[in-house]
Amino acid sequence: MKIINNSVVVMHYAVSDSEGTLIDSSYDHKPMSIIQGTGYLIPGLEDALIDHQTGDQFEVAVSCAQAYGERHDDYVQTVPKELLQGVEELTVGTQLRAATDDGEQTVIVIDVTDDEVTVDGNHPLSGLDLRFDVEILAVRAATKEELKHGHIHSDGESCGGTSD
Ligand SMILES: [Zn+2]
Repeated sequence: MKIINNSVVVMHYAVSDSEGTLIDSSYDHKPMSIIQGTGYLIPGLEDALIDHQTGDQFEVAVSCAQAYGERHDDYVQTVPKELLQGVEELTVGTQLRAATDDGEQTVIVIDVTDDEVTVDGNHPLSGLDLRFDVEILAVRAATKEELKHGHIHSDGESCGGTSD
């Protein structure tokens, strides 16, 4: 069966930057399962899955605009440390939820000094052109229940949600 909208796709992927440096790979853990067309994947990768089928292995080059977007320098902000009182751990790499003009957003601490903290609201992969190596392990049609819930039920069982 070929992948179309509302297919459940089980896949392995490895993602690298344009220089070939490995960023992440599902081969290190378990395959990823998605419902095609729900926007779970970045647009450039989701589009590339269409019409592929079980057993296919292929490469997808995704420009940053079709991946995690351009970097915005103005998403980097330095704030006084006292604004973050109550945050237990404040080290480089700490992720925080921050209220911004666009709503709540995840920011990452990229610098800490004695009295200031610099946070970056860009996605860590923004500004990068990416390359995916994809292997399609299984394709099936999503059940009505899965589409209604917007997530996958393993082995076709129900998730115990109230609307089952
Ligand atoms: Zn469910």
